[in-house]
Amino acid sequence: MRGGPTPAERIYLDHAASTPCAPAVTAVMEHVATHEHANPSSSHQAGQRAARYVDEARERLAAVIGALPEEVVFTSGATESNNMAILGIAAAAEERGERRRRIVTLELEHPSVLGPCRHLAARGFTLATAPVRRDGMLDLDGLAEVLKDDTLLLSLQAANNEIGTIQPLASASRFAHEHGALVHSDAAQALGKMPFDVEALDLDFASFSAHKCYGPKGVGALWVRNGPIHAPIAPLYFGGGHEHGLRPGTYNTAAIAGFGEAARIADERLADDAHHIAALRDHFEALLQDRVEGITVNGALDHRLPGASSLTFEGVDADALIARLPDLDLSAASACHSGTPEPSHVLRAVGLSNDQAYGTLRIAFGRGATRTGVEHAANRIADGISALRTFPSGTTS
Ligand code: PMP
Repeated sequence: MRGGPTPAERIYLDHAASTPCAPAVTAVMEHVATHEHANPSSSHQAGQRAARYVDEARERLAAVIGALPEEVVFTSGATESNNMAILGIAAAAEERGERRRRIVTLELEHPSVLGPCRHLAARGFTLATAPVRRDGMLDLDGLAEVLKDDTLLLSLQAANNEIGTIQPLASASRFAHEHGALVHSDAAQALGKMPFDVEALDLDFASFSAHKCYGPKGVGALWVRNGPIHAPIAPLYFGGGHEHGLRPGTYNTAAIAGFGEAARIADERLADDAHHIAALRDHFEALLQDRVEGITVNGALDHRLPGASSLTFEGVDADALIARLPDLDLSAASACHSGTPEPSHVLRAVGLSNDQAYGTLRIAFGRGATRTGVEHAANRIADGISALRTFPSGTTS
């Protein structure tokens, strides 16, 4: 590609879509990919050496989330973990002739939660969505009304990927358990960004993704309380019996080792990262609000992920704005939906109009954020908005 800012001049503002691998993660992955080619399931010495990396990653992730290593099932990412949990719990319920057929979730969930829920609804399960307030928080009173004694599963995200809202998981889990339901949480955005302890949150299943916390893409995990053999979840795939038969397939040793290292580092840096990133995010928002009229910050201000900043600019088309800012890596809505002309379902669910949704930037700051960088980004965005408001058709002279 020719022209445009060089990588060094670019500012990456999309850490909710993906994060860069931490250098120590890349180093572990390179070592494993170069030297540990044996299959971790082989009983010879080379295989057992490779298996040690998988075991260590499992122990590390378990320690970070307050779980036991044997409760961690490696997957290809949170999309797979969410599908495995929701469809696998429903399959197990059908196998045991369970009368519970209700699944409760949130409209704000990622498509990898909404998709399997809708698939089950088409197969005779009842799907109910718990109400969401305009600040993006689950309405706990409304949840209590939606949860009935026939609820099989509550699937509730830990934190949202667009507006960053952190849901009251512990209270929601308690309500769901009082009704005898199981609780699954999509924690793809939570790991490494906020404390996340499966015991404290009283969960039964939780999904994780490595590439959201400075690990590699294409690897994640499903945490299963008591481990796959004893938990009420049936396998969706069949093969060589890996991961207690719940997720067969040869281990991606390098990626799993990288995930373990990323989880360890994220945990070690959790408080410092959160403090540093939130301070810069707040500085960025204050600067922009000083310079630009008609900005709304989406999502509950006191219950947001540290780097999350979802901003709606009155009368501005976010795609046109992004086109003016080639040095900023910015998203208009969830990257998982890009290419679809539909406005973000998350923004619509919290009450934004289509025009407001189209006028929204989803910014997520990360570990590498600097004061100069966020100031530059705020100024570039402010300049872009004033140019668009002055010359809406795109002409600048
Ligand atoms: N859930 C949430 C909340 C996410 O943000 C994402 C990634 N956009 C996923 C699930 C899917 O994760 P993965 O990319 O690991 O499949």
